[in-house]
Order: sequence, then structure tokens, then C-alpha cells
Amino acid sequence: MRAEPQDFGRVLSSMCTTPHPAAREAAEQFLATNPGDPDTYQAVADLEAEAISQLAEITGLVNPRGYVASGGTEANIQAVRAARNLAATPEPNVVVPDSGHFSFQKAAGVLNVELRTAPTTDEYRVDLDAVSALADEDTVLIVGVAGTTEYGRVDPLGELSRIARDVDALFHVDAAWGGFVLPFTDYEWRFDQVPIDTMTIDPHKMGQASVPAGGFLTSSSDILDALAIDTPYLESTDQATLTGTRSGAGVASAVAAMDALWPEGYREQYDQSMRNAEWLADAFTERGFDAVSPTLPLLAVDLPDGLFAGLREQGWRISRTSAGELRIVCMPHVTREQLSAFMTDLDALRARPRTNS
Ligand SMILES: *Cc1c(COP(=O)(O)O)cnc(C)c1O
Repeated sequence: MRAEPQDFGRVLSSMCTTPHPAAREAAEQFLATNPGDPDTYQAVADLEAEAISQLAEITGLVNPRGYVASGGTEANIQAVRAARNLAATPEPNVVVPDSGHFSFQKAAGVLNVELRTAPTTDEYRVDLDAVSALADEDTVLIVGVAGTTEYGRVDPLGELSRIARDVDALFHVDAAWGGFVLPFTDYEWRFDQVPIDTMTIDPHKMGQASVPAGGFLTSSSDILDALAIDTPYLESTDQATLTGTRSGAGVASAVAAMDALWPEGYREQYDQSMRNAEWLADAFTERGFDAVSPTLPLLAVDLPDGLFAGLREQGWRISRTSAGELRIVCMPHVTREQLSAFMTDLDALRARPRTNS
């Protein structure tokens, strides 16, 4: 094979990043292990327990249960699946903010659960009145996002958890991307701050582990049990994961990354990423563009189509929000030099005389 992976020099909209060197090494070392079969691959099974206790520390979870999933998608599907399995209703529904990740559409599809999406306000957070209006006795799960994929916003989690209690639904927090930056903010998003039943938190995003390393966490053994099925041909007797064979590389690299970075390394990374996002927001505002001010290190900017296309042509790996804004995620590999070069390219495109077409 001759192919080489892309380098990260012009990658500005991905939620993945270069793994921490220790995470990369651990991934390679544990490549040929399968935590899906813990009695054969005991070392990686022990590492998974370690990963869960590290994630529990980050998220304020006592008596943690959970596992290292293939990513946020699997963890979100599992949250919906557990809630559906535990509920008695034949017509379950789930209430998700319209800023929720598209994985909830997959969850609803594979699990045959009705998805009810609640609009967000002009602050990009879910509208609580809308959630109350959508939730009913068939609601099995209410979702709050802690760090939305498009705007980096945190939903009002305390209020959402109360609505969930009122209709006797479980409450899930999706911190897939936000989980490794929120510890350094004032948001209340942890298990010891808000009554949360399940949480998604991905080491393979801001956690700087290698892909695949997602996290599914809960405080309740009933919830994990609701996911478990019997595994006749394995020594271990049941399995709660959605995947069967899964990557020990993800598990080992998650532990290595958290060992190396929690908490100080992540704090420094958060500070740097946040400064970059604010710098970039100012740079756009000075040039007369509308930027959605970053509350976490993620920025959305109203940018004309022609400029967006021009930047793509120059090799910048950028994407858009569903409303069409340019979306830049200040991941660990994104440096100030890179952002300056990006703005220089933007300025050059703007200075170019328009062709009539
Ligand atoms: C990225 C993301 C997901 C999906 O995670 P994958 O690891 O890509 O499956 C889910 N929720 C949020 C908020 C995300 O940002």
C-alpha cells in the first residue's frame, strides 16, 4: 500500500485530531486485542476498567458503569436502547434538541423509537417550553447536549433533567465532544451536579485518544443490565456493547491519553483552543463577518459561498453548519499560525477582483 493519511495542516472542521504520542503508542501496542472477549484479552479488559474510572473522575460519577464504545454514535444509540428496554410503553419516544447529533436519527431508526426534536432558541440552546410540550407518558429519554456539534453550546441540563423526572423518563447528556473541555468551565454538566442517568463522552475527540474511543457512562447497573445479552460461546457470560469484536487500540489509547493529560494537559489545551477560537472570532468580526461568539472552542461564521468554495479549493478542510455557516473547531492540532494562514488566504480571496459569471 502506498497511500498516506492526510496531514492536519489544513484540517479546520474535524472533531478528530492528532492523538497524543502516548496514545498513539498504546494504540499500536494493543492493536491485536479484543475487549469484547475479556476472558481471553484480560490485560485490555483491565485497561477498560481503568478507562471507565478515569472517565468517571472527569464526569463526577461515583460507582461508574460503562464501557469504551466505538464512538459517540454508539454511545448515543445505547442510551436510547437502554431507555427503550427499561420502559413499559409499546410506543416509546425520545425528545432530542434539534441541535442534537444525527446519531439520534440512527438510534431512532434502528430501535424503532419515535424521535421528537425540540427547537433551539436564538441562543442555540434547546427551548425548554418546547421540550415540556413534546414530552409525555411515552417519553423514555430526554437528551441534553453538553457542547453541540455545530455551535458548541450547552443545553440547560438541570431544567431538562427536571422535565425528564416529571414524565418519568431517563435523562441523557451528550458530551461526546464537550466532555474534555467542560471540566475547565463553569457549566454544570457532571453527574455530581445534575441528576443524569447516562452520558456520552468521547476520548477520541478533545480527549486526544486515537479512533475508535468513545465512552458510554451510567451510574446505574440496571441501565447497563438493560443492554446486556447472553454470550453463549464466550467465557464471559454477557455483553452490553453494541459491537462484538472491538478495538483494544481505542481502549488502550484512551487510558494513555488520560494518564498523560488529565487534568493539567487538558486544561492547557482548553485554554489554548479557547484563545484561538476567540482570536478567530475577532478576526472575522473585524473584517465585517458575523461570527457566533464561541462559548466553547468552536466557531460558526456567516461566510459567502464563493469565499467558502475558494478556501476549499486552496485545500482547507472546512465544513458548514446546517444553516450554512462556516464551522471551525479549534481542536488540539489547530494552531494560531494555521489560523493566521487561513485568514491570509481569505484576505487574498476577498481582494481578488470579482469575475462576472
Ligand atoms: C461527534 C459527536 C457525536 C458522534 O460521535 P462519533 O464518535 O462521531 O460517533 C455525538 N454527539 C456529539 C455532540 C458529537 O459532537
